[in-house]
Amino acid sequence: MSDNRYHRQQVLIGQQGQKRLNDTSVLLIGAGGIGSPLALYLAAAGIGKLGIIDDDVVDLSNLQRQILFDMDDIGQSKAIRAQQKLQRLNNEIVIETFPQRFDVNSAHQLIPGYDLMIDGSDNFPTRYCVNDFCALYQKPLISASVHQRQGQVMFYNGQQGCYRCLFPLPPLISFNCATAGVMGLTVGMTAMTAGTMAINYFLTPDSAPMHQLLLIETQPIAIKTFSFEPNSQCQVCAQLNPLKEALNHRYRPIGIAPEEKALKNYQCIDVRESHEDRKKTLSPDDIHLPLTTLAQNLDKLGDKPLLFYCAKGIRSHQTAFIMRDKGYDAYYYCGELR
Ligand SMILES: [Zn+2]
Repeated sequence: MSDNRYHRQQVLIGQQGQKRLNDTSVLLIGAGGIGSPLALYLAAAGIGKLGIIDDDVVDLSNLQRQILFDMDDIGQSKAIRAQQKLQRLNNEIVIETFPQRFDVNSAHQLIPGYDLMIDGSDNFPTRYCVNDFCALYQKPLISASVHQRQGQVMFYNGQQGCYRCLFPLPPLISFNCATAGVMGLTVGMTAMTAGTMAINYFLTPDSAPMHQLLLIETQPIAIKTFSFEPNSQCQVCAQLNPLKEALNHRYRPIGIAPEEKALKNYQCIDVRESHEDRKKTLSPDDIHLPLTTLAQNLDKLGDKPLLFYCAKGIRSHQTAFIMRDKGYDAYYYCGELR
């Protein structure tokens, strides 16, 4: 360990503090707007092992906020490029990358091996999956997200007071940066808040902000703290039922592959909007319920298992996940349909 590299922060945290950081590991879920600036600072600070999981590739529209990447990276794997760049910044730490989607398999594979997870993903299935499996493995989690000009950061110690205590179910219609718009600096401030929280937690674990939601407002600038009580009825952290079995059921395989021919066993639901090209459909008996109207039309769903589909399988995946969370036997069609 190089004393000179960390000298400025060692003045504040001492050699002991620096050693603590070097002995810890963090798994970043997502190397996007939250994950990419965060990874730079955590690597620079000397977090001993950084894991990065992201299945996406760099797009020109990412560069406005995902400052780990530049124009030479366009089209390349975020996880792989992140590793190469971070290792150039600090070659004294271990960086593990996983160019894959975070799902139930990666949850089981990765969460037990890290001291802290930081979720910077931009979609609800991932956010709830990370939360649920941190609860299962009793691992601490910092959840960070941004909507337009407002950021949210929450610490969860892996035992009581999780994301679901505050938001038991994901909303049926969700927005991400592409649809709702986002300011790069808001994402940066949110990432820095999450990163500072992580460093504080490693240096003084007892000071972690339990059962609090931090709201980062950027216009005008303010950080507001809301305290909440852990939900004694929370389906995840209140341990009312054996969590492992509940999660095995909730996270059973959700995608139906194109080669599966038993579509007649499902109620097929086209969630594409009316203005989209809908010439190709999955089944003659399917029903068309645009995602924006689904919440008002739940009474139209029959008794069969539900199979949602859209153009690329992204919205339908989110829909199936959320509907399953609401208690429906829901799936999505993995193939493209255009
Ligand atoms: Zn909870």
